[in-house]
Amino acid sequence: MIHFANVHKNYGSLRVLNNINLVLNRGEVVVICGPSGSGKSTLLRTINRLEKIDGGVITVDGVSLPTRERDINRYRQGVGFVFQSFNLFPHLTALDNITLALRHLLGQSDAEARACGIRLLARVGLQDKAHVRPDHLSGGQQQRVAIARALAMKPPLILFDEPTSALDPGMVGEVLAVMRELAGDGMTMVCVTHEMGFAREVADRVIFMADGAIGEDAPPEQFFTRPSNPRLQTFLADVR
Ligand code: ADP
Ligand code: MG
Repeated sequence: MIHFANVHKNYGSLRVLNNINLVLNRGEVVVICGPSGSGKSTLLRTINRLEKIDGGVITVDGVSLPTRERDINRYRQGVGFVFQSFNLFPHLTALDNITLALRHLLGQSDAEARACGIRLLARVGLQDKAHVRPDHLSGGQQQRVAIARALAMKPPLILFDEPTSALDPGMVGEVLAVMRELAGDGMTMVCVTHEMGFAREVADRVIFMADGAIGEDAPPEQFFTRPSNPRLQTFLADVR
């Protein structure tokens, strides 16, 4: 589905992605972990074209990522993105956060968008919170609304950037449960997370990044029990 070939990305003189070669297949759940500053967020952001690359090629279904502003916007609508900090619109209810794009980008009627929004809220277990604003929701609930919002455009792919890192420990499980269900439904997912239990149980592949490069890319069993990269061995000893 997505193919990185010799991808480079610099911020000024700092090389943050260094010769990334990576294939993400449809229906796969890929977890990316690695130390802070290793380029995980940058890698995710290149996939939905929030960041431009400086070398190499990224293709989606065999086609290079768009470069024209209008095409980028259309492409981005088809890629769900869930942020660490939820990024919900604070003045809108949970339902309106979800239906905004349906109404404004897809031109759905209020009734149509509303029906879809209610279905999505039910899918993340928040059907009773439709008319509640984010500041009256817990962090875990806000993140579940953010996931429902990401699902609204029916994206074939969802990217998660540390979706549980900002949550109190007690709320991590409810968000991971929603993600696990999505994975079970066959959604293609790329998740930056340090939830190694999730990686072990749900991921098809786990990737370790260090210094802007891919240090390991293996099925979970091999990744956790027989890591070949010495820095991954240290990393795993630290997060355990
Ligand atoms: P991670 O998500 O693994 O913590 P990032 O992809 O956020 O890593 O960052 C990789 C490197 O790029 C870090 O050294 C970070 O400081 C740097 N970086 C990230 N965003 C920017 C930016 N907008 N401008 C300059 N440097 C950046
Ligand atoms: Mg990051």
